[in-house]
Amino acid sequence: MLKCKELTEKYANDYIDQELPLSKKMAIQFHLLMCKHCKQFVKQLTLAKQIITQRTNQQANPLQTDEVKVKSTAERLQKALNKQSK
Ligand SMILES: [Zn+2]
Repeated sequence: MLKCKELTEKYANDYIDQELPLSKKMAIQFHLLMCKHCKQFVKQLTLAKQIITQRTNQQANPLQTDEVKVKSTAERLQKALNKQSK
């Protein structure tokens, strides 16, 4: 069984980017079904990535402060998760 720490630190990014082999993807999906903390983490990270992608595509009016906010949100979530999984 995948650990929360492994999921959030190693796999969450690749999972969202769809860059994992099917077996790993299924292990993560299974974990997400049972773990609401990781589910929340992946959801937030997905949103964060979407915002960053949108900002990158909107070169005319880049809002870097949003990227910083998103980054710190992801870090905060990760810290909270690490505390819970101890
Ligand atoms: Zn978890």
